[in-house]
Amino acid sequence: MQLSDLKGIGPAAVEQLKQLNIESVLDLLFHLPLRYEDKTQLTPISQTRAMQPALVEGEITKSFVMQGKRSILVCEIADESGVIQLKFFNFYYSQKIKMRAGKRIRAYGEVNHGMHGPEMIHPEFWLEKDIPALSDRLTAIYPKSEGLQQKRLQGVVLQALGLLQNGQLDLAELLPGDWLKQAHLPDLQSALKDVHQPPPDVDMNSLMEGRHPSQQRLKIEEMVSHFLALQAIRNQRQQHQAPQLILSTEQKHHFLDRLPFTLTGAQQRVLDEISTDLSQAIPMQRLIQGDVGSGKTAVAAGAIEHALAAGKQAVFMAPTSILAEQHRLTLIEIFPDKEIAFLSGRLKAAERREQLAQIADTADIIIGTHALFQDEVVYRDLALVIIDEQHRFGVHQRLSLKAKGAEENSMPHSLIMTATPIPRTLAQVAYANLDVSVIDELPPNRQSINTTLLDNKKMPQLAERIEAACQRGEQAYWVCTLVEESEHLRAKAAEDTFVELKDWFPGLKIGLVHGRLKDEEKTAVMADFKAGNIQLLVATTVIEVGVDVPNATLMVIENAERLGLSQLHQLRGRVGRGSRQSHCVLMYQAPLSQNAQTRLSTMRDTNDGFKIAKTDLKLRGPGEILGTRQKGAMEFRLVNVETDKDLFKQAKDLAQSMQKKHPEQCRALIHRWQRQAATLAKV
Ligand code: ADP
Ligand code: MG
Repeated sequence: MQLSDLKGIGPAAVEQLKQLNIESVLDLLFHLPLRYEDKTQLTPISQTRAMQPALVEGEITKSFVMQGKRSILVCEIADESGVIQLKFFNFYYSQKIKMRAGKRIRAYGEVNHGMHGPEMIHPEFWLEKDIPALSDRLTAIYPKSEGLQQKRLQGVVLQALGLLQNGQLDLAELLPGDWLKQAHLPDLQSALKDVHQPPPDVDMNSLMEGRHPSQQRLKIEEMVSHFLALQAIRNQRQQHQAPQLILSTEQKHHFLDRLPFTLTGAQQRVLDEISTDLSQAIPMQRLIQGDVGSGKTAVAAGAIEHALAAGKQAVFMAPTSILAEQHRLTLIEIFPDKEIAFLSGRLKAAERREQLAQIADTADIIIGTHALFQDEVVYRDLALVIIDEQHRFGVHQRLSLKAKGAEENSMPHSLIMTATPIPRTLAQVAYANLDVSVIDELPPNRQSINTTLLDNKKMPQLAERIEAACQRGEQAYWVCTLVEESEHLRAKAAEDTFVELKDWFPGLKIGLVHGRLKDEEKTAVMADFKAGNIQLLVATTVIEVGVDVPNATLMVIENAERLGLSQLHQLRGRVGRGSRQSHCVLMYQAPLSQNAQTRLSTMRDTNDGFKIAKTDLKLRGPGEILGTRQKGAMEFRLVNVETDKDLFKQAKDLAQSMQKKHPEQCRALIHRWQRQAATLAKV
């Protein structure tokens, strides 16, 4: 049964439905109402209440056009209890004729109390013989797309519901009956009937808040399917072989000795977890969460050591070339006698060929950006893939690199690192297919960063601080935050600022870095900054993630109100990396919106990435935070990851028990809910 088989659904309507993500009759049934209208009973006019919707019926006592700037059609109706005016600002002449005194009319709308008593503006109305029988169900109002009338949508959903009830739609109950009974939840058919056509005695509040058992039941089913799908991905990958990478105690000590510091307890613990994973013959699928500056790179290096000790290759991928280059420098220090290849999108052809040849042959470690995804990159013997700052990559990109290096039965280990400390409940949902390690400790002697807010007008105050810091031999960042789509405009803005700052600070050595520079140029500037040859670095947000120059202790962010919380936190994480007190100055353009005020004051009040993430989640919602707005991973039809948190555990437990007892239903559930079931299964 297809959408086009439904009555009244032609090609145009199919298109309009598609805009609502409705591509099948099933999708239609899972397209849940936004709200409901009660047209099951008439309210006597005298009992209507202001701001409340009501269905009234009576006889038209008079109807006239009020002339003014705009003409208004006024239709006064009376029942035994009182009188109410219906007002129409846009009306046809024919409508005026139809609404003659003496006719019966029924109207539905929100009641206002106007100068002339109760009134309804633009109510829905029916006249004389068009007045329908009172409905015995609440009327569902759906999210709709342009061009698609609400009535039409209601009509097709009802058709679909009818087909379901006649048994003409194949929509089996997939949740175990005993579980439903125990949880006091309805079966699928009743749940669907309830949400699309609630009985008049339904608990309206629970329905409006999405807490009605029928809604809960549908959401749990979706959630179960989500967990099952992620678990399926995991299982599938676990059926592959992976090389066992075992490090002897000696080798491990040798590695630790080469690090310029002692690992923190948290780093140790996470590295141990990784060691255990890598020693297995199945691919590791682990995510490391660690706040900005918690030292993820050293842990990644520890993982790399495992691959190298086994004579195999490791890939380390970063979201920007600046960060990739920095990792290259760090790893050269830690692995001085290893061959390190580098691949980014900006290499010259000859250089690129050379790197590709190395990767296919002698390279031990391969560092780069998303260029590592390209098909022509062939690895000699890839055993480990590390993806740094994963929130910057789209889901698809992430998945395709993981698939790389996979052969028939074998697959490299994968390690994903993120500084986006998402709240635990959300992590459980988003990363249900991954093992998660948390580095919950910062290296010793870190001072928390002192953050101040400064109105753009107070620039002179700031100038003194910058000069003072540089005089102490410390360094500073000046971040330009033009949020233009175009890299070109961003670069231009940074160049302008650069010129201005050179005027302000004739005595300082000032550098400039932005996304339009060639890789070598960026590398040179960053190296100069790291070496201390640049005192003040003017940068776009290209330095947002990962950049590590511990001697930089002051960061100025221009127009900080334009940036989101997690981006501000990332940027600020560029300072406070050494043992000296660091400062961050968030400059802003007054007046601030409520939301911007919350963001900036949160930044001022805490350095704790988890707290910041929580506020961020409230302000922006989960999709944005995870950067997975592309179809897939976190896209739910019914579940709201924030407000439906309390369903997760129940759904997860059910998914687990169903996997054991009802494997057939599990497959069917994945297919029912996951639009990408087929592609999901492949990765
Ligand atoms: P992130 O988790 O943000 O990627 P990095 O790996 O860049 O953090 O580390 C931040 C800084 O902390 C670097 O300068 C690094 O050398 C330093 N660092 C990492 N681990 C330790 C440690 N255990 N003791 C002291 N400094 C450390
Ligand atoms: Mg990092």
